[in-house]
Amino acid sequence: MRGHLFASAGRRVALIMSSAAASSSAGGRPTRTTSSPSASAALLSMAATFVPHHPIAQRAMQYLDASPDPFHATQNACDRLEAAGFTAIDEKDAWTGKLNKGGKYYFTRNRSCIVAFAIGGAYEPGNGFKVIGAHTDSPNLRVKPRSKRSAAGCTQLDVECYGGGLWHTWFDRDLSLSGRVMVRASGGGFEQRLVRIHRPVLRVPTLCIHLQSAEEREAFKVNKEDHLQPILATEALKSLTGDVNAEGEEAAVEEAAEVEDDVSPTGEDGGGKGGGKTDDGTVHAWSSGQEPLLVSLLAEALEVETDAILDFECSLYDTQPASLSGLHSEFLVSSRLDNLASCFVATEALIEHADDADVLANDRDVALVALFDHEEVGSSSTSGAGSPVMGEAVRRISSALSGGGALADDLLAAALANSFVVSADMAHAVHPNYASKHEKSHGPQMNRGLVIKSNANQRYASNGVTSFVVRELARRAGLPPPQEFVVRNDCPCGSTIGPIISANTGMRAVDVGMPQLSMHSVREVMGVADLTHGKNMFKAFFADFRTVDGMLDG
Ligand SMILES: [Zn+2]
Repeated sequence: MRGHLFASAGRRVALIMSSAAASSSAGGRPTRTTSSPSASAALLSMAATFVPHHPIAQRAMQYLDASPDPFHATQNACDRLEAAGFTAIDEKDAWTGKLNKGGKYYFTRNRSCIVAFAIGGAYEPGNGFKVIGAHTDSPNLRVKPRSKRSAAGCTQLDVECYGGGLWHTWFDRDLSLSGRVMVRASGGGFEQRLVRIHRPVLRVPTLCIHLQSAEEREAFKVNKEDHLQPILATEALKSLTGDVNAEGEEAAVEEAAEVEDDVSPTGEDGGGKGGGKTDDGTVHAWSSGQEPLLVSLLAEALEVETDAILDFECSLYDTQPASLSGLHSEFLVSSRLDNLASCFVATEALIEHADDADVLANDRDVALVALFDHEEVGSSSTSGAGSPVMGEAVRRISSALSGGGALADDLLAAALANSFVVSADMAHAVHPNYASKHEKSHGPQMNRGLVIKSNANQRYASNGVTSFVVRELARRAGLPPPQEFVVRNDCPCGSTIGPIISANTGMRAVDVGMPQLSMHSVREVMGVADLTHGKNMFKAFFADFRTVDGMLDG
């Protein structure tokens, strides 16, 4: 798929080239192209400007398309790190004796949060942690604990809004389903399996224009409970004769319906949640609340029997793959740019930093990337930035590398004071049709480099010193000067994991992000050059932060 996407970008350049050739060989006769040779050449040269950024955009698109939910985003980050020589460690084990200077490691929590780090060859306990933090979650629709729902001859799924999505963008999209499923393992025990349905199977249709009054059309307003429930199937199928699948599906529906009579609507039948069937063969209360077609779909995708499905956390996603856009293929459009674009760039920066043997051997710190879950809903969870995971990583890594045992409080405090967090989350570029929404002197633009986000009320963690560090790192590395973002005084401000980590650990932090439009739409857009700018900035942070920090007083 990525080859196709990249090829299309290349083809666009080729088309422009052939257009230039056609107009120069037309001998003055009118041609279909209205561009003069010099105009075409200019177009070609502008298109070429973005070509160097297409390989990283192609890799980003692969990551974005393969990561429809936080579980897949985490697994794909693990796969990339494994391929780059990082070793998995487990939070449940003691790490003393397992970590070495110059080593590369990662661990996950809840399989939706990942911490990866490379220990510098010159590291000593008490030295700092250079942290880039981002988040794996994005606003989406999630299947409710009891998924069954139907109306007007349509089998639907009951869904819940996760985070602050622009929900109107979810209408009329070719949606599908992904997430993780608890499965009864064939050899006994239970296992978590990732699941993804690759074809479109769900749709949230808009109401046709003819059934809306002029006032309703004008005030298009989404009721999050009533209007966003997707359609999975038509119930008309059940009335058709001779369709083996329909008969099977109808039997499954009836089976579940029979059992539903035996349990309370809340599932309080004494069996609790957690089994497709109990030992005596009675369908469990949990199953009775599930849409049988959904359970069958998941079972088929996982190649297990339906009664092996014990629970799931599934969310909806748009099946349209990421693509390049704009006349010069200068934009990347995709779902979940906020914040998988940052996750991708941060992971790649760490991999490349750790891949340079000389750089890693001379590094006196730990270079670390932490991708948290649940940022879109406030970060308060075991796998969110509000959890102890960041502080524990610093403490446990420092302790393991100081020979184990209790790490002296003094050394831990020194490590935290020597550390620095780059909180990477997407930033708001100025929208050309809504330019007045931005503060006049703080309007970041796409393809012009990373943005430093500041807020006097501490919605962002940046301050004069931490912002200066980023600008100085950019200057030393020859990167575009960072852009600045401050929200207007009459507009509410978003927030990030930056202030949360800073408040929990005391580590210095700065909030940065690659600029984008349409944040929290199901389809967002950013500049391809900013992927390169972002990655180079993060690599400069890993490579050069200690030197810059050493030049700061206090
Ligand atoms: Zn975000």
